[in-house]
Amino acid sequence: MAAAQRIVMENCSIATVDADDTEYATGYVVLAGNRIESLGAGRAPEGLADVVRRIDATGHLVTPGLVNTHHHFYQWITRGLATDHNLFDWLVALYPTWARIDEPMVRAAARGSLAMMARGGVTTAMDHHYVFPEGSGDLSGAIIGAARDLGVRFTLARGSMDRSEKDGGLPPDFAVETLDAALAATEATVNAHHDTSFDAMTQVAVAPCSPFSVSTELLREGAELGRRLGVRLHTHGSETVEEEKFCHELFGMGPTDYFESTGWLGEDVWMAHCVHMNDSDIDAFARTRTGVAHCPSSNARLAAGIARVPDMLAAGVPVGLGVDGTASNESGELHTELRNALLVNRLGAHREAALTARQALRLGTYGGAQVLGRAREIGSLEPGKLADLVLWRMDTLAHASIADPVSALVLGAAAPVTASFVNGRQIVADGRLLTADEDEIAHSTRQEARRLAEIAARA
Ligand SMILES: [Zn+2]
Repeated sequence: MAAAQRIVMENCSIATVDADDTEYATGYVVLAGNRIESLGAGRAPEGLADVVRRIDATGHLVTPGLVNTHHHFYQWITRGLATDHNLFDWLVALYPTWARIDEPMVRAAARGSLAMMARGGVTTAMDHHYVFPEGSGDLSGAIIGAARDLGVRFTLARGSMDRSEKDGGLPPDFAVETLDAALAATEATVNAHHDTSFDAMTQVAVAPCSPFSVSTELLREGAELGRRLGVRLHTHGSETVEEEKFCHELFGMGPTDYFESTGWLGEDVWMAHCVHMNDSDIDAFARTRTGVAHCPSSNARLAAGIARVPDMLAAGVPVGLGVDGTASNESGELHTELRNALLVNRLGAHREAALTARQALRLGTYGGAQVLGRAREIGSLEPGKLADLVLWRMDTLAHASIADPVSALVLGAAAPVTASFVNGRQIVADGRLLTADEDEIAHSTRQEARRLAEIAARA
């Protein structure tokens, strides 16, 4: 076997986000093939063979690549609509448009979502896709293909909805699948695309949408399917007070008890939002090691509330960060969520004791890897882990006078990305994607957004 080619970066600050939060004020990182080979303080070891590139990273902070744990890519082409609504009113306003999506629209929206995140330091993304109109084409294949083209590590959470208006749910009747069709298509997607290898670029999770858009049977059978196939489970939970009321009215219990009764708590589950959780809900998540995707900007945009992240972390709940769909977070960037997670939680009950800058960085990296079930492979900079990392530029006007680089990254302006590596391959240089033409993506997303608006207006 040919020796792995090495890339050496030196003279940078490094935040490893390992178990001890090890940091180096000035250090080096050596990549060998798609792995991190070594890192530490000072200069890289002398005499390394097969070095194909040396990067003088003076003025940079190196961190693990950011991991996004909740998103809906298709919403990239329905941004800026229903901007003053709460969740339920917003959903009812948008479902009729969303139900008209087709494969070219979903492909363009996925490329837009992925491009925006990648140039902001995301190296692992996920898409919770749950709208599959009849005859709309191979939407899962289009999304997975977009992630592969752009070179971003990816989990497709194959979503589904089967509780429409006629069954007391929120989506219109024509926007949902049947129980059997949803389960069969989800299983086929896992079989076609889920990769179990250490350096997998594509994984699939089973992901019924939410308690108010899926039947109890779909939740229960979805959990059984995921466990039979050995893949993870994802859904929305405890997002708003309206959802809590809905669960009490329909099921006679709150969302967390309902999830537990349908098999939806466990170390193979992660749930988006979890805003309205009481102490016993948090205990249940901690006891079962159920993960949380914290989405502070979306929760603010939809006036959902502030998730109790400090209490979750204190109880031992794995927590990652999520952009959420860009119809409720138009920026579509994850690096700004580090800042928003810290700021929003300091407005909550714990005030200044809520989150530190380092905890915010951990949520966006290692915490994300944990909830996606990939903490062995990614999420921290350690020898043997996959080479997913970002060089943040810290010596320009925006950051040069901020005392500490981690504080600069989390509290300062969105930091420029000089280089981002996924699986040892550079996908971003000086803030621009290397794997696709951003202007072409911008153009096609604009066109597909217009086409969707026209089709929805005619319907
Ligand atoms: Zn969501």
